[in-house]
Amino acid sequence: MELDDRAEDLASDLGVDKEEVKADLQNLVEYSVPIDEAVQSLRRKYGDGSSGGGGTPSSKDIAEITPDDSNVTVTGVVLTAGKRSIRYQGSDHVIVEGRLADETGVIDYTAWEDFGLSSGETITAGNAGVREWDGEPELNLGESTSLSFLEKSLEVPHEIGGDAQLADLQTGDRAVTIEVSVLECERKTIDGRDGETDILSGVVGDESGRLPFTNWDPAPEIEEGGSVRIENAYVQEFRGVPEVNVSEFSTVTALGRGIDVGSDTATMDIGEAVATGGVYDVEVVGNLLAVRDGSGLIQRCPECYRVIQKGQCRTHGDVDGIDDMRVKAILDDGTGAVTVVLDDELTERVYGGTLEDALEQAREAMDQEVVADRIRERIVGREYRVRGHLSVDEYGANLDAETFEESDDDPAARATAFLEEVDA
Ligand SMILES: [Zn+2]
Repeated sequence: MELDDRAEDLASDLGVDKEEVKADLQNLVEYSVPIDEAVQSLRRKYGDGSSGGGGTPSSKDIAEITPDDSNVTVTGVVLTAGKRSIRYQGSDHVIVEGRLADETGVIDYTAWEDFGLSSGETITAGNAGVREWDGEPELNLGESTSLSFLEKSLEVPHEIGGDAQLADLQTGDRAVTIEVSVLECERKTIDGRDGETDILSGVVGDESGRLPFTNWDPAPEIEEGGSVRIENAYVQEFRGVPEVNVSEFSTVTALGRGIDVGSDTATMDIGEAVATGGVYDVEVVGNLLAVRDGSGLIQRCPECYRVIQKGQCRTHGDVDGIDDMRVKAILDDGTGAVTVVLDDELTERVYGGTLEDALEQAREAMDQEVVADRIRERIVGREYRVRGHLSVDEYGANLDAETFEESDDDPAARATAFLEEVDA
């Protein structure tokens, strides 16, 4: 286990008790401090002045920095600078994250100290730490970094500021600015780290697409039907899809005009969609190969609403189940496959009857499988166009369907249309 190894190395380097170092390390990592930064901060705490490299690191162009560098000195323009609060060692800590560019390239950075960074400024960061994230180098600006602001600004071939379209946002993006229409918004009370707190959650849209959002510190400007400009938001994955996070450090301004929300959903090959790791709003077309077990009539726990087996909920034990219907079906387009999940309404449509009809059919047959069988007969082997939220996890890819339509451009129809054109 990595943490254990790192603690052991560190303890022997510094000549201190391993358990003590490990507890400190665990604490930092639990509060999302990257392990390399946690190790460096413990080196400082236990008084190792060397900070890893020794000597002044050489100046480097951004394009030349690799994850193998331990420390570098770099000059660049701050493209974005977004504040975010994390908590470690029991107290809140404000970090600044963003992107830094020079003529050769762009690199992500995290500042663990308040250097007063803001976008558009040209800086030299002396002795900046380098860590690897997802195979790419990133800069850590911390206590051992000397930071200076240059009067002469550097010209870089990149746009300054974080203006973005929703379709371009990816998990991990920081300090983004968006102008969106609030399509759905509800207030929820959650059990936060400081007790019960209110948040807003919903869906925002612009011309390029739609994404879910959470507003951790409810802004009065965010209300259903309104349009807002949000500065300094960040993107984090939630339930397998990217989500816009609006925090206490974000600036929300009501716009005096509407934002058009595009009706075009991105249509992708299934393989391509799955490779993104999760898309909030996507459309795929494929052949329905099979209806999986657990489809048709199901029962849910009245407490947690999860699917139960033989009257048993995994959490709540013996319960009086609530009848419901759903379909889990495998859709394949040759590039990949997803499990399409249909809710009760869509399931009633493909079944061709209501929940009551399904219960009646099952009672007569004295077998609830007859419902799933009838759905199988009606949809397996056909081509469907499905729009919804795609999430990908270790068990595979699930597409929660919002719409489920038999595809009009099925191969036979296309062939007929082609022949007619040729004949004409
Ligand atoms: Zn339950």
